[in-house]
Amino acid sequence: MSGVRVLETFGLSKAYGRERVVKDLSFSIEAGEIFGLLGPNGAGKTTTLLMLLGLSEPSAGYCRVLGLDPLKKPLEVKSQVGYMAENMGIFPDLTAREHLKFLADLNGLKKPALDECLELVGLLGAADKKAGTYSRGMRQRLGLAETLIKEPKLAFLDEPTLGLDPDGIATMLELIERLPREKGLTIVLSSHLLHLVERVAGKVAILNQGRLLALGSVGELAALSGLSPDLETVYRHYLKADLGEEIDGLVLGQGPGSGPGVGAGL
Ligand code: ATP
Repeated sequence: MSGVRVLETFGLSKAYGRERVVKDLSFSIEAGEIFGLLGPNGAGKTTTLLMLLGLSEPSAGYCRVLGLDPLKKPLEVKSQVGYMAENMGIFPDLTAREHLKFLADLNGLKKPALDECLELVGLLGAADKKAGTYSRGMRQRLGLAETLIKEPKLAFLDEPTLGLDPDGIATMLELIERLPREKGLTIVLSSHLLHLVERVAGKVAILNQGRLLALGSVGELAALSGLSPDLETVYRHYLKADLGEEIDGLVLGQGPGSGPGVGAGL
């Protein structure tokens, strides 16, 4: 870990009308980290990512992405940050190479490393086949290649293993793990598949109803509450505690709206 902060949020909040869907988020991510952004449906993960990308304006608070305010410097942020959305569309009649060339042109890249990028995701052999003929796993890897073609410093990956078979998942996770080492990439990984996040993420943030409940490594969060060090246990513990439920005879939370949980702000 280099200790350089590539992403910081300060009291970041978003409201739609009267509904506050992201509440007072403050956290930071260091260069080379794989950071898991977790939470149940509607927790505010996508809304947070959209604010970090400059695609949605915070109602309060602010963020810095690679030292930049995404609202004031959207193009600079866009050129250095990759976003692999949950469902990356493909053009079935274009090949993988053509997809990447198209994106490279769109981003004004002079000498895009097309072959290197295709090789990295294991698509070099199929680079000139139409993407409409690709398997689900190949499409996901094309989505990752599209995210990587502009050689971003930071990438947001939203459910990158969605719909993949076990081999496809293993390949995708292996790739995700290699990227910080080989490309110096920092990754924010959002997924509901906790056992997969656990395999690659050094740190996780757990959100619920727009609030940050916990932040830290699985080991740190587990140790704080005397839990077995696995993400599923830790995740369920913090969510239950947030809802004020009694666990093993101990009331751990004060209910929604009670502020950051035990491990928040580590
Ligand atoms: P999921 O895991 O299902 O993708 P999420 O954690 O990404 O969920 P968000 O999509 O950020 O959650 O949604 C958080 C809350 O904000 C939800 O209650 C959602 O209905 C609400 N929301 C999101 N976008 C809008 C919008 N444009 N207008 C109004 N409400 C919105």
